Amino acid sequence: MISLGRVQPWPRRLRHNCVGPGHSQGKLYGLTLRSGGASFVSLKEYKKKRRFDITPEPKGNAKKPKSGGSLLYLIQKHQATNLHYDFRLEWNGVLLSWAVPKGPSLDPSVKRLAMRTEDHPLEYGDFEGVIPAGEYGGGTVMLWDKGAWVPEVSDVDSALKAGELKFTLHGRKLKGSWVLVHTRGYGGSPSRSAWLLIKHRDQYASTTDIAAEKPRSAVSHRLLAEIAQDAGGDVEKARKGDPGADRQRDRRTASASRRRIASRRQS
Ligand code: MN
Repeated sequence: MISLGRVQPWPRRLRHNCVGPGHSQGKLYGLTLRSGGASFVSLKEYKKKRRFDITPEPKGNAKKPKSGGSLLYLIQKHQATNLHYDFRLEWNGVLLSWAVPKGPSLDPSVKRLAMRTEDHPLEYGDFEGVIPAGEYGGGTVMLWDKGAWVPEVSDVDSALKAGELKFTLHGRKLKGSWVLVHTRGYGGSPSRSAWLLIKHRDQYASTTDIAAEKPRSAVSHRLLAEIAQDAGGDVEKARKGDPGADRQRDRRTASASRRRIASRRQS
């Protein structure tokens, strides 16, 4: 157990789109939360929340694919009602999942709140696209980072149960040593499973704002608005999760003027 320190509270305005009536138990701001204990090999909750005749998300019925010995790690940047980053680690044939409202930080002094959510099927690791409006998590999903993870503990299940999982990430954006720490200091109830995602000090630690600096998909290199456009989603809503349009325009102008200066120098 560690102190919450300067961690920001879960923002009031952060909620998933679809909250079924009569499901208030174990919910915090519309997210169904998991207790911090063992990993149940069950996609029941995942399936219950989704209507697969409407959403393009995977049904989760596929046989466990051969993973070639490595464990899948990924982050999906998800512009639902509010932007968050879904952090997922393959374990026991499913993707253990945490919703990180502010996204990961490479700065070891920054603790990012990570709310445990329902396990997702492994096939979810390939999903980038649009969840229709009105469905659970309705909005645009980007595969923001993808790679493999390696536990730094000998027994992952015990580590999860004890509430402290150390691991190494081999992603395209996130690398090096990290920890997820369960904290009962937040929310007070064990069903409200708040964890903290923290970077360990190593060569990959940095004060770079990775979420701002690397806003594009790790697989398609698209921005959220481009993913929404391609899949017939709500482009304006998706754009809220992308870097400011003004900033992008500034960058284009800046690089165009650099090119002009460079060509003048050459001539
Ligand atoms: Mn999500």
